[in-house]
Amino acid sequence: MNVHEYQAKEILARYGVPVAGGGVATSAEEARQIAEKIGGPVVVKAQIHAGGRGKGGGIKLAKNAAEASEIAHEYYLGLLVDRARSRLTIMASAEGGVEIEKVAAETPEKIIRAEIFPAAGFSPYVARPDQVKQFVALLAGCVRCFTEMDCSLVEINPLILTPEGKLFALDAKVNFDDNALFRHPDVREMRDIHEEDPLEVEASKSDLNYIKLEGGQVGCMVNGAGLAMSTMDIIQLAGGKPANFLDVGGGASKETVSKAFGILMRDEDVKAVLVNIFGGIVRCDRVAEGIIAAAKEVHIGVPLVVRLQGTNAREARQLLEASGLKLTVAETLDEAARKVVAAVGGAA
Ligand code: GDP
Ligand code: MN
Repeated sequence: MNVHEYQAKEILARYGVPVAGGGVATSAEEARQIAEKIGGPVVVKAQIHAGGRGKGGGIKLAKNAAEASEIAHEYYLGLLVDRARSRLTIMASAEGGVEIEKVAAETPEKIIRAEIFPAAGFSPYVARPDQVKQFVALLAGCVRCFTEMDCSLVEINPLILTPEGKLFALDAKVNFDDNALFRHPDVREMRDIHEEDPLEVEASKSDLNYIKLEGGQVGCMVNGAGLAMSTMDIIQLAGGKPANFLDVGGGASKETVSKAFGILMRDEDVKAVLVNIFGGIVRCDRVAEGIIAAAKEVHIGVPLVVRLQGTNAREARQLLEASGLKLTVAETLDEAARKVVAAVGGAA
């Protein structure tokens, strides 16, 4: 889960990270009141989940830049999980600010990395001069925040040094591990669904896992994350590209299948649908009934290829063939992928 900058700063401040003061405004009048309270030049920052606001025009200095600027230098600080090493990794650069992507791409040696050993934790053994002390305290707060709040990312860019020699988090991006949100009801409250894909939000309400992908045409309905991955691989192998995948989970009842078609049909990139469901606990004939029922409720206006394998697969096939629905039944995943790719106009 992602939160807004002001919420991220609120959380980091709980861990002693120095953040610039401010307030949240939903109107120009509120913004004026907050600016008066702060009593100096202010910066107006659009609160959206996307980055790149500086370059995109989402950051405005309310007086001229020279007056508002109290930045001597901009640094980058980021904490994330290195999944290959199974460790929390700290990244920092003296070249922070809005060009950090360019620094990462062109001069990656300017971004230094340090790992935290899980058993030892974070040890501030480098704390010496004043700024280093400030930095170590700030970093220690970030590390504590990361672990206690079950974050997946803590990023401060820029972390600034003022002319007076003080370090401040001028921006903050904090992401949370969805699987640990039950431990943080206050964080769950911060969710802003307007910033999320509306179809993904709707799917999650029905306990369906829908993930939108860029640039593909095949809608995929599957049960299980592993099957989703292999289905997408085989579609690519056949020369096609998935537009999304929708994991209906273990249940795959008539209602969930119907709901799932409703979501897939609203993804405008979908030019054909591949249903690839393995009947383990769920029976294939039940899934077939679900597909037949769904076709009555939802207009499936694109070619549909169905591959059901496992418990009662033969009965499922008979049901689908007797239904009179315009769909293609496939036996193997390979065959299903070739047929669905042909339906969207063949291999790219
Ligand atoms: P992003 O572009 O979406 O990451 O937004 P940032 O919050 O990082 O802002 C981009 C740039 O605007 C920063 O690198 C700063 O130079 C400037 N900026 C952002 N917030 C402030 C602020 O509170 N005071 C001042 N003086 N400059 C700011
Ligand atoms: Mn930033």
